[in-house]
Amino acid sequence: MARSLNSVVRRLVRYFSSAASSLALLGAVSAGAVIEQDRETFEAVRKADLELATIGWRLSVPNASLCDRLEPGLGLQLHTLDQFDSDSRAAAGTYFGFATPVAVEGVVAGSPAERGGIRADDSLVRVGSIDIASLPGKPGTTQRLVATQLAIAALAPDAPIEVEVIRAGAPIKVTVQPVPACRSRFELLLSSGYNARADGTMVQISSQFLEEYTPEQAAAAVAHEFSHNILHHRDRLEARGVDFGMLSGFGTNVKYFRQTELQADLLSVYLLANAGYSPRASIDFWKRFGPSKAGGIFRSRSHPHWRDRVATLEAEIAKLETISARPMIPSLIAERSQPLSGDWQSLLIRAR
Ligand SMILES: [Zn+2]
Repeated sequence: MARSLNSVVRRLVRYFSSAASSLALLGAVSAGAVIEQDRETFEAVRKADLELATIGWRLSVPNASLCDRLEPGLGLQLHTLDQFDSDSRAAAGTYFGFATPVAVEGVVAGSPAERGGIRADDSLVRVGSIDIASLPGKPGTTQRLVATQLAIAALAPDAPIEVEVIRAGAPIKVTVQPVPACRSRFELLLSSGYNARADGTMVQISSQFLEEYTPEQAAAAVAHEFSHNILHHRDRLEARGVDFGMLSGFGTNVKYFRQTELQADLLSVYLLANAGYSPRASIDFWKRFGPSKAGGIFRSRSHPHWRDRVATLEAEIAKLETISARPMIPSLIAERSQPLSGDWQSLLIRAR
Protein backbone atom coordinates (compact mmCIF):
# COMPACT_ATOMS: atom_id res chain seq x y z
CA MET A 1 0.00 0.00 0.00
CA ALA A 2 1.30 3.40 -0.94
CA ARG A 3 2.57 5.50 1.89
CA SER A 4 -0.04 8.06 0.93
CA LEU A 5 -2.82 6.21 2.74
CA ASN A 6 -2.04 7.82 6.05
CA SER A 7 -2.01 11.26 4.53
CA VAL A 8 -5.42 10.37 3.14
CA VAL A 9 -6.55 9.41 6.62
CA ARG A 10 -5.61 12.86 7.82
CA ARG A 11 -7.41 14.55 4.95
CA LEU A 12 -10.59 12.58 4.58
CA VAL A 13 -13.17 11.73 7.18
CA ARG A 14 -15.49 8.97 6.21
CA TYR A 15 -18.59 7.74 7.93
CA PHE A 16 -19.82 4.25 8.46
CA SER A 17 -22.87 2.32 9.49
CA SER A 18 -25.12 4.12 11.87
CA ALA A 19 -22.60 6.84 12.69
CA ALA A 20 -24.52 9.93 11.77
CA SER A 21 -22.46 12.69 10.29
CA SER A 22 -22.76 16.41 10.50
CA LEU A 23 -23.72 16.30 6.85
CA ALA A 24 -27.30 15.88 7.91
CA LEU A 25 -27.24 19.59 8.53
CA LEU A 26 -26.20 20.36 4.98
CA GLY A 27 -28.51 20.79 2.08
CA ALA A 28 -28.08 19.52 -1.44
CA VAL A 29 -24.56 19.05 -2.68
CA SER A 30 -23.45 21.45 -5.34
CA ALA A 31 -20.93 20.44 -7.95
CA GLY A 32 -17.42 20.71 -6.58
CA ALA A 33 -14.09 21.35 -8.17
CA VAL A 34 -11.71 18.38 -8.09
CA ILE A 35 -8.16 19.35 -7.38
CA GLU A 36 -5.16 17.05 -7.82
CA GLN A 37 -4.97 16.37 -4.10
CA ASP A 38 -8.59 15.16 -4.12
CA ARG A 39 -7.85 12.86 -7.03
CA GLU A 40 -4.94 11.25 -5.16
CA THR A 41 -7.04 10.95 -2.01
CA PHE A 42 -10.01 9.35 -3.73
CA GLU A 43 -7.88 6.91 -5.70
CA ALA A 44 -5.89 5.90 -2.60
CA VAL A 45 -9.14 5.19 -0.77
CA ARG A 46 -10.56 3.32 -3.75
CA LYS A 47 -7.43 1.16 -3.90
CA ALA A 48 -7.58 0.40 -0.19
CA ASP A 49 -11.32 -0.36 -0.30
CA LEU A 50 -10.71 -2.72 -3.21
CA GLU A 51 -7.91 -4.41 -1.33
CA LEU A 52 -10.23 -5.17 1.58
CA ALA A 53 -13.09 -6.12 -0.78
CA THR A 54 -10.74 -8.57 -2.49
CA ILE A 55 -9.73 -10.13 0.83
CA GLY A 56 -13.40 -10.36 1.82
CA TRP A 57 -14.26 -11.90 -1.55
CA ARG A 58 -11.46 -14.42 -1.36
CA LEU A 59 -12.50 -15.51 2.15
CA SER A 60 -16.28 -15.53 1.56
CA VAL A 61 -16.60 -17.65 -1.57
CA PRO A 62 -14.44 -20.75 -0.95
CA ASN A 63 -15.69 -20.88 2.65
CA ALA A 64 -19.39 -20.67 1.72
CA SER A 65 -20.02 -24.23 2.93
CA LEU A 66 -18.78 -23.21 6.41
CA CYS A 67 -21.43 -20.49 6.66
CA ASP A 68 -25.09 -20.93 7.56
CA ARG A 69 -26.06 -17.58 6.03
CA LEU A 70 -25.29 -17.01 2.36
CA GLU A 71 -25.55 -14.14 -0.08
CA PRO A 72 -25.11 -13.81 -3.84
CA GLY A 73 -21.37 -13.17 -4.21
CA LEU A 74 -20.93 -10.43 -6.80
CA GLY A 75 -17.56 -8.83 -6.03
CA LEU A 76 -19.07 -5.35 -5.93
CA GLN A 77 -17.49 -2.63 -3.80
CA LEU A 78 -20.13 0.05 -3.25
CA HIS A 79 -19.94 3.53 -1.80
CA THR A 80 -22.15 6.53 -1.21
CA LEU A 81 -21.67 10.26 -1.18
CA ASP A 82 -22.94 10.30 2.39
CA GLN A 83 -19.66 8.71 3.48
CA PHE A 84 -17.67 11.81 2.65
CA ASP A 85 -17.23 14.65 5.05
CA SER A 86 -18.38 18.14 4.23
CA ASP A 87 -14.93 19.24 3.03
CA SER A 88 -14.61 16.54 0.40
CA ARG A 89 -18.20 15.70 -0.45
CA ALA A 90 -18.74 18.07 -3.37
CA ALA A 91 -15.45 17.06 -4.97
CA ALA A 92 -16.29 13.39 -4.44
CA GLY A 93 -19.64 13.89 -6.15
CA THR A 94 -17.94 15.36 -9.18
CA TYR A 95 -15.01 12.99 -9.25
CA PHE A 96 -16.97 9.74 -8.96
CA GLY A 97 -19.90 11.04 -10.99
CA PHE A 98 -22.63 9.86 -8.63
CA ALA A 99 -25.88 9.80 -10.63
CA THR A 100 -27.76 7.92 -7.87
CA PRO A 101 -27.13 7.71 -4.10
CA VAL A 102 -25.13 4.46 -4.31
CA ALA A 103 -22.41 3.77 -6.86
CA VAL A 104 -19.81 1.16 -7.70
CA GLU A 105 -16.47 2.16 -6.24
CA GLY A 106 -14.84 -0.83 -7.86
CA VAL A 107 -15.23 -4.48 -8.83
CA VAL A 108 -13.08 -7.33 -7.58
CA ALA A 109 -10.87 -8.76 -10.32
CA GLY A 110 -12.28 -11.99 -11.74
CA SER A 111 -15.59 -11.60 -9.89
CA PRO A 112 -19.10 -12.09 -11.32
CA ALA A 113 -19.56 -8.30 -11.34
CA GLU A 114 -16.50 -7.88 -13.53
CA ARG A 115 -17.48 -10.75 -15.82
CA GLY A 116 -21.00 -9.32 -16.09
CA GLY A 117 -19.63 -6.00 -17.31
CA ILE A 118 -20.14 -3.78 -14.26
CA ARG A 119 -17.51 -1.06 -13.97
CA ALA A 120 -16.18 1.34 -11.39
CA ASP A 121 -18.23 4.55 -11.22
CA ASP A 122 -21.41 2.94 -12.52
CA SER A 123 -24.27 4.40 -10.45
CA LEU A 124 -26.78 1.80 -9.24
CA VAL A 125 -30.41 2.19 -10.30
CA ARG A 126 -31.72 -1.32 -9.71
CA VAL A 127 -30.25 -4.62 -8.55
CA GLY A 128 -32.64 -7.50 -9.20
CA SER A 129 -35.89 -6.50 -7.54
CA ILE A 130 -34.25 -3.73 -5.51
CA ASP A 131 -34.99 -0.15 -6.50
CA ILE A 132 -32.02 1.69 -4.99
CA ALA A 133 -33.73 5.09 -4.79
CA SER A 134 -36.60 3.63 -2.77
CA LEU A 135 -34.37 2.24 -0.01
CA PRO A 136 -34.72 4.11 3.26
CA GLY A 137 -31.91 6.12 4.76
CA LYS A 138 -31.37 9.49 6.31
CA PRO A 139 -29.25 11.90 4.30
CA GLY A 140 -25.88 12.39 5.96
CA THR A 141 -25.73 8.79 7.17
CA THR A 142 -24.62 5.62 5.43
CA GLN A 143 -27.97 3.96 6.09
CA ARG A 144 -28.82 3.76 2.40
CA LEU A 145 -25.48 2.14 1.55
CA VAL A 146 -25.93 -0.44 4.28
CA ALA A 147 -29.58 -0.97 3.27
CA THR A 148 -28.41 -1.60 -0.30
CA GLN A 149 -25.80 -4.13 0.86
CA LEU A 150 -28.31 -5.92 3.07
CA ALA A 151 -30.99 -5.99 0.36
CA ILE A 152 -28.54 -7.47 -2.16
CA ALA A 153 -27.39 -10.00 0.45
CA ALA A 154 -31.00 -11.16 0.86
CA LEU A 155 -31.37 -12.07 -2.85
CA ALA A 156 -31.06 -15.71 -3.92
CA PRO A 157 -27.35 -16.64 -3.70
CA ASP A 158 -27.10 -18.36 -7.07
CA ALA A 159 -29.78 -16.94 -9.39
CA PRO A 160 -28.85 -14.48 -12.18
CA ILE A 161 -29.36 -10.84 -11.21
CA GLU A 162 -30.27 -8.11 -13.65
CA VAL A 163 -28.48 -4.89 -12.77
CA GLU A 164 -29.39 -1.45 -14.11
CA VAL A 165 -26.78 1.28 -13.86
CA ILE A 166 -26.11 4.74 -15.16
CA ARG A 167 -22.70 4.97 -16.83
CA ALA A 168 -21.51 8.39 -18.03
CA GLY A 169 -25.12 9.56 -18.13
CA ALA A 170 -26.50 6.62 -20.08
CA PRO A 171 -28.67 3.78 -18.68
CA ILE A 172 -27.16 0.32 -19.09
CA LYS A 173 -28.53 -3.13 -18.19
CA VAL A 174 -26.36 -6.15 -17.50
CA THR A 175 -26.95 -9.63 -16.08
CA VAL A 176 -24.64 -10.95 -13.41
CA GLN A 177 -24.40 -14.61 -12.40
CA PRO A 178 -23.46 -14.62 -8.71
CA VAL A 179 -21.74 -17.38 -6.78
CA PRO A 180 -22.82 -18.32 -3.24
CA ALA A 181 -20.72 -16.54 -0.62
CA CYS A 182 -20.79 -16.22 3.16
CA ARG A 183 -23.12 -13.36 4.05
CA SER A 184 -20.97 -10.59 5.45
CA ARG A 185 -20.18 -6.94 4.97
CA PHE A 186 -16.58 -5.71 5.09
CA GLU A 187 -15.84 -2.12 6.05
CA LEU A 188 -12.59 -0.22 5.87
CA LEU A 189 -12.24 2.31 8.66
CA LEU A 190 -9.91 5.11 7.59
CA SER A 191 -7.64 5.39 10.59
CA SER A 192 -3.97 5.47 11.44
CA GLY A 193 -4.76 3.40 14.55
CA TYR A 194 -5.17 -0.35 14.75
CA ASN A 195 -8.83 -1.29 14.92
CA ALA A 196 -10.49 -4.57 14.09
CA ARG A 197 -13.94 -5.71 15.10
CA ALA A 198 -16.82 -7.97 14.21
CA ASP A 199 -20.42 -7.26 15.16
CA GLY A 200 -22.08 -10.46 14.02
CA THR A 201 -22.78 -9.46 10.42
CA MET A 202 -19.96 -7.07 9.56
CA VAL A 203 -16.16 -7.11 9.75
CA GLN A 204 -14.39 -3.80 10.08
CA ILE A 205 -10.66 -3.19 10.01
CA SER A 206 -8.73 0.04 9.92
CA SER A 207 -6.66 1.13 6.96
CA GLN A 208 -3.53 0.98 9.11
CA PHE A 209 -3.49 -2.81 8.69
CA LEU A 210 -3.38 -2.43 4.90
CA GLU A 211 -0.78 0.29 5.23
CA GLU A 212 1.64 -1.63 7.45
CA TYR A 213 1.04 -5.31 6.78
CA THR A 214 1.24 -7.53 3.71
CA PRO A 215 -2.08 -8.41 2.05
CA GLU A 216 -1.76 -11.95 3.42
CA GLN A 217 -1.18 -10.71 6.96
CA ALA A 218 -4.10 -8.28 6.66
CA ALA A 219 -6.18 -11.22 5.40
CA ALA A 220 -5.22 -13.10 8.59
CA ALA A 221 -6.56 -10.25 10.73
CA VAL A 222 -9.77 -10.16 8.66
CA ALA A 223 -10.10 -13.96 8.87
CA HIS A 224 -9.94 -13.79 12.67
CA GLU A 225 -12.76 -11.23 12.84
CA PHE A 226 -14.75 -13.05 10.17
CA SER A 227 -14.44 -16.23 12.26
CA HIS A 228 -16.20 -14.53 15.18
CA ASN A 229 -19.19 -13.89 12.91
CA ILE A 230 -19.20 -17.33 11.30
CA LEU A 231 -19.22 -18.89 14.79
CA HIS A 232 -21.99 -16.50 16.00
CA HIS A 233 -19.80 -15.42 18.88
CA ARG A 234 -21.64 -12.22 19.64
CA ASP A 235 -24.99 -14.00 20.03
CA ARG A 236 -23.40 -16.79 22.05
CA LEU A 237 -21.62 -14.35 24.37
CA GLU A 238 -24.86 -12.43 24.86
CA ALA A 239 -26.63 -15.72 25.61
CA ARG A 240 -24.10 -16.14 28.43
CA GLY A 241 -24.95 -12.70 29.72
CA VAL A 242 -21.49 -11.37 28.94
CA ASP A 243 -20.82 -7.66 29.35
CA PHE A 244 -19.11 -6.08 26.33
CA GLY A 245 -18.21 -2.92 28.19
CA MET A 246 -15.36 -1.94 30.44
CA LEU A 247 -15.77 -5.04 32.57
CA SER A 248 -15.16 -7.48 29.74
CA GLY A 249 -11.77 -8.47 31.14
CA PHE A 250 -13.05 -9.36 34.59
CA GLY A 251 -14.92 -12.04 36.42
CA THR A 252 -16.70 -14.90 34.78
CA ASN A 253 -16.70 -13.12 31.41
CA VAL A 254 -13.01 -13.84 30.94
CA LYS A 255 -13.36 -17.53 30.20
CA TYR A 256 -15.99 -16.92 27.52
CA PHE A 257 -13.95 -14.20 25.81
CA ARG A 258 -10.86 -16.37 25.86
CA GLN A 259 -12.78 -19.27 24.39
CA THR A 260 -14.14 -17.13 21.55
CA GLU A 261 -10.72 -15.57 20.89
CA LEU A 262 -9.07 -18.95 20.62
CA GLN A 263 -11.88 -20.38 18.51
CA ALA A 264 -11.57 -17.42 16.12
CA ASP A 265 -7.81 -18.01 15.86
CA LEU A 266 -8.35 -21.70 15.17
CA LEU A 267 -11.04 -21.18 12.52
CA SER A 268 -9.06 -18.39 10.86
CA VAL A 269 -6.35 -20.76 9.65
CA TYR A 270 -8.96 -22.96 7.95
CA LEU A 271 -10.57 -19.93 6.31
CA LEU A 272 -7.16 -18.79 5.04
CA ALA A 273 -6.19 -22.23 3.75
CA ASN A 274 -9.56 -22.79 2.03
CA ALA A 275 -9.15 -19.38 0.38
CA GLY A 276 -5.72 -20.24 -1.00
CA TYR A 277 -3.80 -18.05 1.44
CA SER A 278 -1.02 -19.54 3.48
CA PRO A 279 -2.46 -20.33 6.93
CA ARG A 280 0.96 -19.31 8.26
CA ALA A 281 0.03 -15.70 7.48
CA SER A 282 -1.75 -15.76 10.85
CA ILE A 283 1.53 -16.56 12.58
CA ASP A 284 3.42 -13.93 10.60
CA PHE A 285 0.76 -11.44 11.62
CA TRP A 286 0.97 -12.18 15.34
CA LYS A 287 4.77 -12.28 15.37
CA ARG A 288 4.76 -8.74 13.97
CA PHE A 289 1.71 -7.36 15.71
CA GLY A 290 2.14 -9.02 19.08
CA PRO A 291 5.44 -7.60 20.33
CA SER A 292 4.89 -4.03 19.22
CA LYS A 293 1.18 -3.35 19.25
CA ALA A 294 -0.55 -5.84 21.49
CA GLY A 295 -1.55 -3.21 23.96
CA GLY A 296 -4.99 -1.80 24.55
CA ILE A 297 -7.76 -4.28 23.91
CA PHE A 298 -5.28 -6.84 22.68
CA ARG A 299 -3.55 -6.92 26.03
CA SER A 300 -6.67 -7.17 28.14
CA ARG A 301 -7.12 -10.24 30.27
CA SER A 302 -9.81 -11.43 27.88
CA HIS A 303 -7.22 -12.08 25.19
CA PRO A 304 -4.52 -14.77 25.46
CA HIS A 305 -0.88 -13.74 25.20
CA TRP A 306 0.28 -13.44 21.62
CA ARG A 307 3.07 -15.99 22.12
CA ASP A 308 0.51 -18.57 23.24
CA ARG A 309 -1.69 -17.66 20.30
CA VAL A 310 1.24 -18.33 17.95
CA ALA A 311 1.92 -21.70 19.60
CA THR A 312 -1.77 -22.58 19.31
CA LEU A 313 -1.84 -21.56 15.64
CA GLU A 314 1.33 -23.55 14.92
CA ALA A 315 -0.25 -26.70 16.37
CA GLU A 316 -3.48 -26.24 14.44
CA ILE A 317 -1.67 -25.60 11.16
CA ALA A 318 0.34 -28.81 11.67
CA LYS A 319 -3.00 -30.60 12.06
CA LEU A 320 -4.65 -29.07 9.00
CA GLU A 321 -1.64 -29.77 6.81
CA THR A 322 -2.54 -33.46 7.06
CA ILE A 323 -6.05 -32.84 5.65
CA SER A 324 -6.46 -33.07 1.88
CA ALA A 325 -10.21 -32.42 1.59
CA ARG A 326 -11.30 -28.97 0.34
CA PRO A 327 -12.87 -27.05 1.81
CA MET A 328 -11.64 -28.13 5.23
CA ILE A 329 -14.43 -27.86 7.80
CA PRO A 330 -13.23 -27.99 11.42
CA SER A 331 -15.47 -29.37 14.18
CA LEU A 332 -15.94 -25.82 15.53
CA ILE A 333 -18.49 -25.32 12.76
CA ALA A 334 -20.77 -28.13 13.98
CA GLU A 335 -20.38 -26.93 17.57
CA ARG A 336 -21.51 -23.38 16.89
CA SER A 337 -25.13 -24.20 17.70
CA GLN A 338 -24.11 -25.13 21.24
CA PRO A 339 -23.74 -22.69 24.13
CA LEU A 340 -20.20 -21.54 24.93
CA SER A 341 -18.70 -23.79 27.60
CA GLY A 342 -16.04 -21.34 28.76
CA ASP A 343 -13.42 -24.06 28.36
CA TRP A 344 -10.54 -22.18 26.81
CA GLN A 345 -7.81 -24.16 28.53
CA SER A 346 -8.27 -27.20 26.29
CA LEU A 347 -7.87 -24.99 23.19
CA LEU A 348 -4.70 -23.18 24.24
CA ILE A 349 -1.20 -24.46 23.54
CA ARG A 350 1.31 -22.61 25.71
CA ALA A 351 4.47 -21.23 24.16
CA ARG A 352 7.57 -22.99 25.41
ZN1 LIG B 1 -11.09 -11.55 18.38
